[in-house]
Amino acid sequence: MSTWDKADQHFIGCDIAYDLADAVVFGAPFDATTSYRPGTRLACRTMRAESYSIETYSPYQNLDLTDFAIFDGGDMELPFGNPTKALRLIETQASQILADQKLPLMIGGEHLVTLGAVRAAYKRFPDLHLLHFDAHADVRQHYIGERYSHATVMRRCWDLVGDGHLHQFGIRSGDKEEFNWISQHTSCSRFGFAGLEDTIQSLSGKPVYLSIDLDILDPAVFPGTGTPEAGGVSFNELLQAIRKVSELPIVGCDLTELSPPLDISGISTATALKIMRELLLAILQKRQNRS
Ligand code: MN
Ligand code: MN
Repeated sequence: MSTWDKADQHFIGCDIAYDLADAVVFGAPFDATTSYRPGTRLACRTMRAESYSIETYSPYQNLDLTDFAIFDGGDMELPFGNPTKALRLIETQASQILADQKLPLMIGGEHLVTLGAVRAAYKRFPDLHLLHFDAHADVRQHYIGERYSHATVMRRCWDLVGDGHLHQFGIRSGDKEEFNWISQHTSCSRFGFAGLEDTIQSLSGKPVYLSIDLDILDPAVFPGTGTPEAGGVSFNELLQAIRKVSELPIVGCDLTELSPPLDISGISTATALKIMRELLLAILQKRQNRS
């Protein structure tokens, strides 16, 4: 199937054949509903090219990407201006990866792309829980009249998984209505990761999808994003949180909202790559221990 032709260039350390892979990285370069400053469609290709500037070895975890079986599926071709169709295509792609018992790691794109992958994961795991790291609540019912938007994405995910299955961390922006709604329907830790250990304990053994909107990071360390929010978490705090949640059976994950044109220094792309490396290593190591 042509979807699984090797990318011309693959992410560093992600060059195993699809059939042999435990994890599949793929790009969903879609930013059609971005409300403020677009550019996330360029994230995956920029990250892939820049990935040769990072080490495959993690001194944090004493693990190396080349010790794991990771396939780079390249970037999807998605129709701009048609979120419904784009989400269907992403769902199909993620469904196949899950059916083949592999871990999907999707690189956005704007945050809306998460919905496609969550639909696929929810179909396979009806008791799916969502861990949502973000500066923004993303639980509006509509945004500028649209049901499908990066500002409504977690509300659309909640439509599937329901009360008690959406766990939000780092949230520091949203309208009053969103925060009122959150207090009734999700568990939400504002501003940081307080309570993460309790959440992890309560989710023990349950299938979890981890969605990381990279704007959870402080804009001082991650300025390359469309809707920066001051007062975010540090790189080390995010790294620690990722290592903690990797204790859970994570069935799928994503990194979204890097917008390389908004940070000509390249620091944001380099940071996203380091997060990606640590995320893959943490999850794959735990997966290996479980099997
Ligand atoms: Mn956000
Ligand atoms: Mn978001």
